[in-house]
Amino acid sequence: MNKKLTLALTKGRILKETLPLLARAGIEPLEDVGTSRKLVFETRRSDVQLVIIRGTDVPTYVRHGAADMGVVGKDVLLEHGAEGLYEPLDLGIARCRLMTAGPVGWQGTGARIRVATKFVNITRRYFARQGVHAELIKLYGAMELAPIMNLADLIVDIVDTGNTLRANGMAPLAEIASISSRLVVNKAAMRSRYSTIAQLIDDLTEIVQDSENATA
Ligand code: AMP
Repeated sequence: MNKKLTLALTKGRILKETLPLLARAGIEPLEDVGTSRKLVFETRRSDVQLVIIRGTDVPTYVRHGAADMGVVGKDVLLEHGAEGLYEPLDLGIARCRLMTAGPVGWQGTGARIRVATKFVNITRRYFARQGVHAELIKLYGAMELAPIMNLADLIVDIVDTGNTLRANGMAPLAEIASISSRLVVNKAAMRSRYSTIAQLIDDLTEIVQDSENATA
């Protein structure tokens, strides 16, 4: 079979950290993904192509076999599920934390709390585990605005440096999950293209270990 191996990559911040890892495994796009408006890129390896899409779409492409493998944040896998996917490698990139956060000095009122987030499934599970009755308010961005406008008491969001929270008078409260980007593989592709995929997983495992040792 000579169909190209297709990797679905998450665009944005994760892509910037993924490309150097792939380059070390010999997979480099033939043109600048930063300036091109294309979505499909050939690479220096003629048997490998890249598609560059939204993170939330990566598991869908890989689950359906439209892509053989993908790179996606753990937050997306926790929120939207990882059924039909193998998750063989933590790439250790785009590290951040999924946290609850509230206005500085916020004290629980004891009453029902309103929580704004785009991670509604994770948030529902988290507060259920805590035995806290939370009203969830689904937003698609700028979660930090919700407490300022009294739409919600708390938010659940990704925190990296904490600058976004601080700039909006908020502080992190509790960590829900530690997040990084993961390699995911379509289960059928793992069988039908085992040697190519296993070799790439091995190469990336070594590259990730090397870069972690270099920064340790
Ligand atoms: P910060 O101000 O450094 O705490 O960054 C927080 C904001 O950046 C969040 O609202 C996220 O939307 C975004 N962000 C930071 N790190 C990541 C990541 N690894 N993956 C996705 N989004 C991130």
